[in-house]
Amino acid sequence: MPAVKNPDPLLAWVSTGTEPGVAPDEIERVRALLNTDDRFHKVERLAADAPDELRLVRDALRSYLLGGDLAELRRVAQQHPLAVEFEAAGARLEAGDDLVGGILAEVYEAQRSGAWARLKACANPDCQWIYFDASRNRSGRWCSMGECGGVMKARAYRERSRRS
Ligand SMILES: [Zn+2]
Repeated sequence: MPAVKNPDPLLAWVSTGTEPGVAPDEIERVRALLNTDDRFHKVERLAADAPDELRLVRDALRSYLLGGDLAELRRVAQQHPLAVEFEAAGARLEAGDDLVGGILAEVYEAQRSGAWARLKACANPDCQWIYFDASRNRSGRWCSMGECGGVMKARAYRERSRRS
């Protein structure tokens, strides 16, 4: 009998599925967490009573994704050790009830599957929305063409015509 999945505790703090750039299930929770630091609307979407460690791992993952900064993420990971669990389908990382550990395990799996490499921050500095780049050659730069793509192209056009 398949086990009934426990309700996802992260969803008490984070809403998944917010457009643009929704990711496949394996990494959508992480993307949603990253976007609780909503630079586009300049809103902190992580409720004030959310666990501090959730904010810490979010900020560490943002620094890692946007700037390749490992220091904070390593500190977080050291405090949330994971176990290797062997199953018929193969080995996976098990976090138990550790919310942050579960997030780190998802990042690990997504790095192995290639999904992580498609998570990007919008190149519009006023946006930085984290989106899943589904383009074939991973060439996407904006969270959406309509919003930031259009804005940034118009800006580049204005700068070009100013120079000429
Ligand atoms: Zn954007």
